[in-house]
Amino acid sequence: MLKITPYLGIMVLIVSIGGIFYPRLGYFLLLVFAGLMIIAPFRGRWFCGNLCPRGSFVDFWLAPLSRKLRIPPLFRSMWLRAPIFVALMGFMVFRIIQTEGIVDKIGMVFVTLCILTTSIAILFGVIIAPRAWCSFCPMGTLQRAMGGKNTSSKWTLRNASIAASARRSVQCSFP
Ligand code: SF4
Repeated sequence: MLKITPYLGIMVLIVSIGGIFYPRLGYFLLLVFAGLMIIAPFRGRWFCGNLCPRGSFVDFWLAPLSRKLRIPPLFRSMWLRAPIFVALMGFMVFRIIQTEGIVDKIGMVFVTLCILTTSIAILFGVIIAPRAWCSFCPMGTLQRAMGGKNTSSKWTLRNASIAASARRSVQCSFP
């Protein structure tokens, strides 16, 4: 974990809420996409544990509200992950095509995507576990495809809130 990791979660709120009023904030997602795609071939899912704003959000903001149950194995299954990847990427491309290249409209597509996925992350994060969404997140699936055999794809995350209650570090390793 980097020193900046706990603070990155604020970007999720800035894009999800601020983006409604200023859609160009949605372009921040392109920075996230680029970052993880550059890193994934060399470090697997290192980005997930260190630089992802939503990862930070669920670990440090959502975790205190979570029931912290075991994540169902189905969530890590490709039978679920592949359709979700295709559906969300298809949704994004379809919506972007409809914007006719208007900058603000494209930005709003990313904001909508951020609100949608954050809502799912919050829902499953509260009723199951903070990282439940990360089990089938399309960007996590993409990183796995790009760097899944890299040993660095297994990362350790010291989750402050969980560690405080469990008095141990949490090993987060997603296939
Ligand atoms: S799985 Fe997705 S949301 Fe979770 S940390 Fe990785 S990129 Fe971020």
